[in-house]
Amino acid sequence: MAQFLKKQSFLDFQKFIESVYSLPDDRLFSLWDLLSHQERFTMRALKGIRKNNKKKLELNLLIAFSWLMSVANRLHIIVEDAVWRRFPMQCSYCAGLPCACKKIKPKKRAKIIRKNSLRPQTLAQFQEMFSKIYPPNSRTLSDAGVHLAEEMGELSEAVLCFLGEHKHKQFVDLQNELADFVSCIFGVANSANIDMAQELSKIFYKNCHVCHKAPCECSFSFIAKFSS
Ligand SMILES: [Zn+2]
Ligand SMILES: [Zn+2]
Repeated sequence: MAQFLKKQSFLDFQKFIESVYSLPDDRLFSLWDLLSHQERFTMRALKGIRKNNKKKLELNLLIAFSWLMSVANRLHIIVEDAVWRRFPMQCSYCAGLPCACKKIKPKKRAKIIRKNSLRPQTLAQFQEMFSKIYPPNSRTLSDAGVHLAEEMGELSEAVLCFLGEHKHKQFVDLQNELADFVSCIFGVANSANIDMAQELSKIFYKNCHVCHKAPCECSFSFIAKFSS
């Protein structure tokens, strides 16, 4: 049986998703299909914000985050590494802790110096790191949601560019966009008081959160119509 525990690492979560979903993902879905699923559940989460429905926001955010792992697994990207490279306990743009972009309005990216001793060990600690870099009281939940939507679009662009030309730089960009998307998932979670590790451990206590099989046995049409 596969499960994700609250105290586990970010990489453990990605491996959990791989063990449960890589078989159906590989058989049923192209990379674009995987990305569409990530996108539609992200948009459903945003609908939860607009409707002020925390349950809807929460479950869809968890599912969008899980589809992101499927996208990364397809491309053999370790999300935790991409996130730490982009956000080593600092804003990826101004290098501040907390971010001071609004105050200093930097014109270009600051130089980042990584201190590996600060690297979070668990998924929960990654969420905590993002609340330090981007304190939730510095913006509204709706603003955090708009930023998440923006990053979904930028990730799609990066995938489009990479699949078009297959250049190394485009693959690096894609990894950065993936990390930015993750920062916004945690940003929304922090603004809405959602403990991602805890809630993921609740839905993923036994294999697939819907059919409870590993590998997941949910059918193509069931997944295509699944709403939460
Ligand atoms: Zn900043
Ligand atoms: Zn399933």
